[in-house]
Amino acid sequence: MNTKIIDFYEDKDGFIKCVEAIKNNDIVVFPTETVYGIGGNALSKDAVSKIFKIKERAKDNPLIVHVCDYDISKYVEDISEDAFKLIDKFWPGPLTLILKKKNVIPYETTGGRNTVAIRMPNNEIALELIKESKCPLAAPSANISGRPSGTNAYRCFEDLNGRVKFIINGSRSEIGLESTVISMIDDNPIILRPGYITLEEIKKVIPKVRLYERLNEKILDKNPISPGLKYKHYAPKGKMIIINSSKEKIANYLEKVYLTYENIGILCIDENLKFYEKLNKNLKVVSAGKKDDFIEIGRNLFENIRVFDDLNCDFIISECFFQDFSNAVMNRLLKASSHNVIIL
Ligand code: AMP
Ligand code: MG
Repeated sequence: MNTKIIDFYEDKDGFIKCVEAIKNNDIVVFPTETVYGIGGNALSKDAVSKIFKIKERAKDNPLIVHVCDYDISKYVEDISEDAFKLIDKFWPGPLTLILKKKNVIPYETTGGRNTVAIRMPNNEIALELIKESKCPLAAPSANISGRPSGTNAYRCFEDLNGRVKFIINGSRSEIGLESTVISMIDDNPIILRPGYITLEEIKKVIPKVRLYERLNEKILDKNPISPGLKYKHYAPKGKMIIINSSKEKIANYLEKVYLTYENIGILCIDENLKFYEKLNKNLKVVSAGKKDDFIEIGRNLFENIRVFDDLNCDFIISECFFQDFSNAVMNRLLKASSHNVIIL
C-alpha cells in the first residue's frame, strides 16, 4: 500500500478522498491538538479491527472515540451532572471521559468493556474529518504500539508508511501529550491518565475528583482499571533512565556509563545544555525546554525521544523535570524509561 501525505489546506480533493476512505471503513491518520491519531469509524468492527492490526495494539486496550458534536447521548448513557460540567468546561479539548457505552459502540472499540472513552478534539482538521465522515472516529495515537506517540505527520509516516493510505498533514500537535482520561462511570470520578488538563483544574469543576493511586506503579495485573496502565509505552530504541539529581552528580554518573555504552544521550533543561555539551563532545545533548516549563517540555517530549533514535543512542539519561511523578510529563517519562529512576 502506498501512503500519501495530504496537505489539508492545499489539497481539498485529497481531503475528500480521506473522508471517502473513512466511509469505506478504511483508516486515516489525522492531527489533533494532543498527538496525531490513527482513525477509523468507531461504530464499525471492521474499521476498528484494522486500527488494532496496523498499530499492533493489544485487543484489550480500548480506543478513544472522537466526536464533533456535544450530543453524545447516542453513544453513552447515565451522563451525570458532573460529566456535563466537565464537557461544558473542557470540550473541545484534551479531556477524555469514560462513560457507560450504548450498544452502537462495538466491543471491539472498547476492548471488551461496557464503558467507552470519549472526547471532542480541539483541532479544526480533526473536527472537519469527523463531521464530513458522519461518524465518530476511534483514534489512538498514530504510532506502532510501544513507540513514542507521533506529534507531526513526518513521525507518523516513519511508523506507518505502507500501513495506511492517507496521512493528513496539519501542523505539529500543539499540546504534544495525550489527553487526560477521567472515569465518570459512577459518583467516584478518578483520573486514570494525567494529561495537559491537571487535577487542580478539574477539581475547580468537580471538587471530589482524585488521581488513581497506582498511576506511577508498574502495573502487572491482568485486568487493571485502565488497560493502558499495563502496556509498554513511548519507548526509545535505546535504554532510558531518569536521574533525579543535580547536573554535577549526573556528570559523575556519566563517567561510569561511558565504559558500557557507545552512544549516550541526555535530555535536559535548556539551562543545562552547555554544561553537558562541554563534558564530552560525543555526548548527544537535547534540550527538553526551559526549567519548569510544563507546556514546552510536554510539547517537545515525544519528538525529543524520537530524536535520540535518529542519533542512534543506545543509552539515554533524562533529567527529572518535575518532582511530582503524576504530572503528565513525568508520567510519560516514567513509562518511556520502564520506571527506571535513579536518585543520586
Ligand atoms: P490511547 O488511545 O493510546 O491514547 O489510549 C487510550 C487509553 O485510555 C487506553 O490505553 C486506556 O488506558 C484508557 N481507556 C480507554 N477506554 C477506556 C475504558 N473504557 N476504561 C478505562 N480506560 C480506558
Ligand atoms: Mg498511544
